Amino acid sequence: MITITNLNKSYKKNHVLRDINLELPQSGIVALLGPNGSGKTTLLKCFLGMVLADSGDLVFDGRSVLGQYEYRAKVSYLSQIARFPENLTARELISLMKEIKPGETREANFIKVFNLEKELDKKMGSLSGGTRQKVNITLALMHDDPLIILDEPSTGLDPLSLQELKKFILKERERGKLILITTHILSLAEDLADDILFLLEGDIYFNGSLKDLLNDQGENNLENAIAHILRSTKEYSHA
Ligand code: ADP
Repeated sequence: MITITNLNKSYKKNHVLRDINLELPQSGIVALLGPNGSGKTTLLKCFLGMVLADSGDLVFDGRSVLGQYEYRAKVSYLSQIARFPENLTARELISLMKEIKPGETREANFIKVFNLEKELDKKMGSLSGGTRQKVNITLALMHDDPLIILDEPSTGLDPLSLQELKKFILKERERGKLILITTHILSLAEDLADDILFLLEGDIYFNGSLKDLLNDQGENNLENAIAHILRSTKEYSHA
């Protein structure tokens, strides 16, 4: 579904993405992992056209989309930091979203599983952090798009809501979607991901199955495997 070739992005002298070559499958769950500053958000933003790469190409569904925007209508994106108009209610935001992007929507499902009904008519500014995240998820995922990008989706969620989100993600995979997740919660990646994409200083250090990553590193869980990579690459530097 997505092919990236020779993608480069620098911010002044900071070469953030270094000649990234990558092919993502049509469906499945891919966890994008890596230390802070390794380029995960920049890569996601390149997918979304929110950051323009300096060079390279990005092909989505067989078409080069670098610098284009129409394809974004097929992408559901949950951003890490969501800013809402504080004086609108969740119900008003959901209606607004439906007007902006027509098509079938599934907000009723999220309202039910996140127990949001009684929060819908309160102003966004008065909601707790966890409730705001539930509204953020509802707004981001209510459309039925083939590609779902989730930047730190578990932030602020209580365990029951996190379970509901996981169920939703797994169901979407069964329906043939491609889901791309960044998370610091390695157990979430371990529970969900078919493939792990590990970025280190703007390079793809590993791209493959969780099983292969554990085998490569001689470890029995993701946390240990990543600690192993980071220890062995302490000297790893482009400086
Ligand atoms: P990650 O998501 O893996 O933590 P980012 O993609 O956010 O990494 O950042 C990668 C590098 O790019 C960091 O060194 C960061 O400071 C830099 N960077 C990100 N966005 C900008 C920006 N808008 N302007 C300048 N530097 C940026």
